[in-house]
Amino acid sequence: MEFKSMNLKDENKSTPEGDVEKVKCLIVGSGPAGYTAAIYAARANLKPVLIEGLQPGGQLTTTTEIDNFPGYPDGITGSEMMADLKKQAERFGTDCRWGLVTSVDFSSYPHKVIVDDKKLIEAETVILATGATAKYLGFPTEEKYMGSGVSACATCDGFFYRGKDVAVVGGGDTAAEEATYLAGLCNKVYLIVRKPFLRASKTMQDRVFRTKNIEVLFEHNTKELYGDGVVEGVKLIKRMGEPDESEVDVKIDGFFLAIGHTPNSKIFNGYLKTDAQGYVLTEPETTKTNVHGVFACGDLKDPHYRQAITSAGSGCRAAMDAERFLSERE
Ligand code: NDP
Repeated sequence: MEFKSMNLKDENKSTPEGDVEKVKCLIVGSGPAGYTAAIYAARANLKPVLIEGLQPGGQLTTTTEIDNFPGYPDGITGSEMMADLKKQAERFGTDCRWGLVTSVDFSSYPHKVIVDDKKLIEAETVILATGATAKYLGFPTEEKYMGSGVSACATCDGFFYRGKDVAVVGGGDTAAEEATYLAGLCNKVYLIVRKPFLRASKTMQDRVFRTKNIEVLFEHNTKELYGDGVVEGVKLIKRMGEPDESEVDVKIDGFFLAIGHTPNSKIFNGYLKTDAQGYVLTEPETTKTNVHGVFACGDLKDPHYRQAITSAGSGCRAAMDAERFLSERE
């Protein structure tokens, strides 16, 4: 879910049109965190308005089957789960709206949020659930095989590659973690690392090197994927740009990206404290940001777990924190 970066206090920005709408609880984002926050906020009578963003349903709508969300013994597709969550949020009165938050102003109270460059909403509480976007390498065949062998989430999709050969791209903790996870399911895992070393922590590296069916391909870059409708192999460049550069062909069934995520927090720049990567910081054990009445949940604040179930859990906490914030003000 991409959110354009623009602040009301910036110059030359569009002016809101029409009446100002006042709401108790505004939720930004429509993944498991946003919809769960909506279910709880609606049941607490906060009459939430939820702005869905560019990719209604969030990242999960780009995965195939979800088998690890408790309560679905036969699995469910990401799109179906998101449609169900939306229905459940609406059942309790959430006003779900298609739209994109284009700017915010958290410098005064109530908080101001602009939707689609024109509609101003003043909110007593704002729950941010804008998620994070997985980084992709950006070559054409990567997009072509999306959902047909290309994935950015081993925990979500690894199960479909049981007994098969797969590759993971990246050299950080995520890549190391995903490679070891996949090694438990797959016949063979190639870890494609562009540098001659891993960036992952020592513990994670040890785990990778101890796992017999992981082969680390240092100094390899991805050129392209190939296959008849689904991924059947990957062409790599070994020691790219060096005199002994060569092309390597590896037969695989699955290609997993683990080169990092970008939290969708740019739009809140200047208001919210984040870590160096842009993940919104919250008070320990809560979803409270440094701005009173603004709460963050889901992948926007979580560089570690990034699961539908953990996002949903943090969405619940954000709604409860918002409800408490409002009741303490009364
Ligand atoms: P990182 O930014 O740490 O690592 C990204 C990796 O992807 C690097 O090895 C980088 O290579 C590689 N990469 C980036 N772009 C490309 C590209 N275009 N082509 C090839 N390779 C590329 O991201 P992570 O998601 O691994 O980790 C993010 C944060 O989350 C870190 O702080 C990490 O410690 C933390 N984390 C912690 C975990 C845990 O504690 N269990 C689990 C997962 C994450 P290069 O090194 O060459 O730049």
